[in-house]
Amino acid sequence: MAEKLAENLYTIPVPLPGNPLKNLNVYLLAGERNLLIDTGFHLDACRDALLAGLRELRVDMDRTDIFLTHLHSDHTGLAPDIAGPNTRIFIGEKDLSHMPGSHSDFSWADSDRRFAAEGFPWPLLRELVERNPAQGLSPVPYDDYIPVSDGQVFSYGGHRFQAIWTPGHTPGHMILWEEETGICILGDHVLFDITPNVTRWHGVTDSLGDYLHALEQVRTLPVTLPLPAHRAVHAAFQDRCDALIAHHGRRCREVLRILRDGGSMTAWNIASGMTWRIRARNWAEFPTPQKWFAVGEAMAHLDHLIALGLVARQPSKPFVTYHLSQEGIHGIDSLPGV
Ligand SMILES: [Zn+2]
Repeated sequence: MAEKLAENLYTIPVPLPGNPLKNLNVYLLAGERNLLIDTGFHLDACRDALLAGLRELRVDMDRTDIFLTHLHSDHTGLAPDIAGPNTRIFIGEKDLSHMPGSHSDFSWADSDRRFAAEGFPWPLLRELVERNPAQGLSPVPYDDYIPVSDGQVFSYGGHRFQAIWTPGHTPGHMILWEEETGICILGDHVLFDITPNVTRWHGVTDSLGDYLHALEQVRTLPVTLPLPAHRAVHAAFQDRCDALIAHHGRRCREVLRILRDGGSMTAWNIASGMTWRIRARNWAEFPTPQKWFAVGEAMAHLDHLIALGLVARQPSKPFVTYHLSQEGIHGIDSLPGV
């Protein structure tokens, strides 16, 4: 069932079957021309729920544009399918190269090689080809995405939203901010009962540093209606930004302690020593997709600690390893930003 949130602003709940995020909050700005924000996986259950909501709101897709907050398939999966002949599909310019289509320079084979170099076992990477939702539920190839740049304005249904580039969760993640009303459509930049995943992205030096910087930037906005892409809102916006910043500070300190005790280690081994909020007794029992996300998060934290000068990387063969730098040995309790 679609729900009205403000004048000409609605939300449509789209289930994400088998995914711990449970559902996606799709948003719609309704007017002469509509703007639909995010879509759901390329999956029948998502398509049925989204189309039912669009019917209920009497949305004509030929008079509707689509804004994708970021490249992840739970947001982008259905966009090319539901687009009408006149639909424009917008996505942050830095996410475009990851989207299936002729502009794509992303390859899972390259990604797998990079994970293998960090100690991720090859048999598990092969298993993921079947099981990782990002690899199966993506949108069909599409060549006409329109790249969005920081500050671009979107005027629909009497609203005037500004896109703000908030890299970290993905390189090109965008939120939509309306100064006049204090409404902020957050994508996955700020979620309230889940911590947004921050991983290493090829070509990005410090994803976590970018993420923390973008949080510092948006935490001062006078947001009155925060609209996350998943689940509900449980805290004041600024408090939640602060809690996320503090969370990553604790995680960085945990990585430093693991390296202090373990010496020189791979990202795979570091991830296995970190604490994760998941129902599994130990690392061996972690489902393989969760291991993949965990190693990605460990790498993002390592990159950030390298950028801060606290950790050093040794590109030794066959695996890349990490160890504390001189500053890191003394830096565990003096980590900035926490
Ligand atoms: Zn996401």
